[in-house]
Amino acid sequence: SSGLRLDRLAKTFPNGTAALGELSADIEAGAFVSLLGPSGCGKSTVLRLIAGLEEPTRGRVGWPQTRGSLGFIFQEPTLMAWATATNNIALPLELAGMAKSEARERARVALEKVGLAGFADALPRELSGGMRMRVSIARALVADPDVLLMDEPFAALDEFTRGKLNDDLLRLWAERRFTGIFVTHSVFEAVYLSQRILILSGRPGRLVADIENPAPYPRE
Ligand code: ADP
Ligand code: ADP
Repeated sequence: SSGLRLDRLAKTFPNGTAALGELSADIEAGAFVSLLGPSGCGKSTVLRLIAGLEEPTRGRVGWPQTRGSLGFIFQEPTLMAWATATNNIALPLELAGMAKSEARERARVALEKVGLAGFADALPRELSGGMRMRVSIARALVADPDVLLMDEPFAALDEFTRGKLNDDLLRLWAERRFTGIFVTHSVFEAVYLSQRILILSGRPGRLVADIENPAPYPRE
């Protein structure tokens, strides 16, 4: 995994909306960090800046060694409707140049890890919301990213499913030790998942607290 440094990162959109004030934070390799705050305080913008989907107005995202590879999980699982669970995971690997047989084998293992071994040939519409989110997680993790960016991934799911997915995510993180950055407006979820919580507030968003979780995972 890979750490990263947010160095006086700020973003004002071309229409004049100041989304992010000035954010500085060092995120160490292998940490699981939550960005917690109300809607509109710039949390998604921080992830998009890290991913290079937006250019910062000021400041920069620094990578200590080389830029880590990134996985991104969005709230809406962006699965291809016409493709099976396996193909949703395998096709991006094939597009990146992997042999079809290896891509499909990796997809099989990834589905197994998220508890969907029996749904390899199912289409997205044949899966529940929670199961579709699991396919998205498998797809993000199959490329073994150094850094996993998660934008309120479970917000649309019921509390029970959400709890199960939180546990699955922690298990996968303990196994892979990617650097996790998890955006949420749920205090409970931030405390449950992360070792460290960065609290953003205001418009434009600013860092108002940087808290080490006194009882991080794995808990007794
Ligand atoms: P959060 O994830 O905390 O809800 P966002 O980062 O999505 O916050 O948005 C922060 C602010 O920036 C909001 O006021 C939002 O409307 C605005 N914003 C986000 N994306 C754009 C954009 N592409 N153009 C203009 N304003 C935007
Ligand atoms: P949601 O609550 O968002 O619809 P869940 O993940 O809780 O999604 O799944 C809903 C239903 O799908 C469950 O009642 C269960 O029967 C079935 N299901 C989910 N995951 C699996 C699995 N790994 N194996 C078999 N059935 C599953």
